[in-house]
Amino acid sequence: MENCIFCKIARGEIPSTIVYRDENVFAFRDISPQAPSHILVVPVKHIPDLLEDEAANGNLLEKIFKTIQKIAKSEGLQNGFRIVANHGDDGGQSVQHIHFHILGKRRMVWPPG
Ligand code: 5GP
Ligand code: ZN
Repeated sequence: MENCIFCKIARGEIPSTIVYRDENVFAFRDISPQAPSHILVVPVKHIPDLLEDEAANGNLLEKIFKTIQKIAKSEGLQNGFRIVANHGDDGGQSVQHIHFHILGKRRMVWPPG
């Protein structure tokens, strides 16, 4: 999508610290980290939110979660981390291109805010 921030990052039009990428999935460090390790895992395909049919594509979700596993290991998060996917206004979604936050290297609180 033309004006989507994450599509621009995927195309290299906005700089980012990429930690992983292949033809389906990429991951980069959040510009406003909420934990010492804060990485966004994003499908290359523009899917606006988690209620789109494509967001529940099993093949894509497998790729996303394999990427999460790789990053958790390469970042040294075996001791614990949190995955967050925000949806809609109440969920605090600010970018309309689905993404999974990986937060780690600090103690998480429950329930989340
Ligand atoms: P959401 O609020 O939609 O769950 O998450 C969007 C995330 O994208 C936020 O944590 C925000 O800091 C991050 N973000 C927004 N714009 C950029 C950007 O240009 N570069 C990077 N690296 N992260 C961004
Ligand atoms: Zn997009």
